[in-house]
Amino acid sequence: MTVLEVEALRTEFPTKNGPIRAVAGVDLQVPAGEIVGLVGESGSGKTVLAESIMGIVEEPGRVTAGDVRLNGESLLSKTETELESIRGNNVSMVFQDPMNSLNPTIPVGEQVAETIRLHQDIGESVTLPAEFKRKLLGTATDTVSWQKSIEMLETVGIPEPSTRATNYPHEFSGGMRQRALIAIALSCEPDLLIADEPTTALDVTTQAQILDELEALAGAFDTAVLMITHDLAVVSELCEVVNVMYAGEIVERARPRELFERPQHPYTRGLLDSVPRLDGTQSLESIPGDVPEILGEPTGCTFAPRCPEATNECREIRPSMRTVRDGDHQTACLKRDAVRTEMIER
Ligand code: SF4
Repeated sequence: MTVLEVEALRTEFPTKNGPIRAVAGVDLQVPAGEIVGLVGESGSGKTVLAESIMGIVEEPGRVTAGDVRLNGESLLSKTETELESIRGNNVSMVFQDPMNSLNPTIPVGEQVAETIRLHQDIGESVTLPAEFKRKLLGTATDTVSWQKSIEMLETVGIPEPSTRATNYPHEFSGGMRQRALIAIALSCEPDLLIADEPTTALDVTTQAQILDELEALAGAFDTAVLMITHDLAVVSELCEVVNVMYAGEIVERARPRELFERPQHPYTRGLLDSVPRLDGTQSLESIPGDVPEILGEPTGCTFAPRCPEATNECREIRPSMRTVRDGDHQTACLKRDAVRTEMIER
């Protein structure tokens, strides 16, 4: 079942020189229990796309066209109150910096328990404001929500969870804080989890552990996960499908193995070339220049100024997504028919 459907979504930020298009006609789908990757350099529009899906685009930006459907229902037609309820109950987001998302004055276990009380039907009152209740009663550790909180902390791999639950966020390591945040996000039992660079600040070992757990949890809870990252290594094993984003557009989409072995778009090839190989057989190259801000409707391919294969035709004709090789592999490059297989074999 497809949980998230994004269709021809467009988000713009007005400026005195005309609207900057941050998201430009994006199509995307995330099925239940699957992790779908969204990769690209910073400034490619990944986070604005996530904010557009969540309905939290910062003013003066706004979604100007397209649709976002959650379980078949359009979110763009919802009121702000309805969206707040959906954000609390159906969609969760995990960000890069857990310190900004956790409350430093509340024990971690209580923060998880509070989410459980709010979102799961366990018969515990949530009528009093949580801050007030805490001041009045302290943290209640003999409740169902507290026990479930400990189970949840254990599920996401926090050692000695019953002791750790009483700790404050500053007493946790970066990896444990990120795990706690995932516990909170999953305690909402969301249909969709958007993870925006969830492990970027962590060391490689912790990163791998958390990603493994996220994968297992997505399967166990049947949660659809949109994994946003600039790190191709993160998506290589984790995701069913990878979307490559450049200047607000999806420019390539494929299953990870296909994408890594036969990248079709020169931008994807540039991203892959900028990743050092473990066997040291490849020099570290990077894509020259930066992701541009696109004002209005561009003429030609937006990657042309940075593309080693650009021709005059590329500067005049807009490429659109076309299927290449098989139905699962699509790219938006005018040259994809001209690119010879032996040139792109990696
Ligand atoms: S359309 Fe042309 S400029 Fe754009 S990516 Fe393909 S080859 Fe490069």
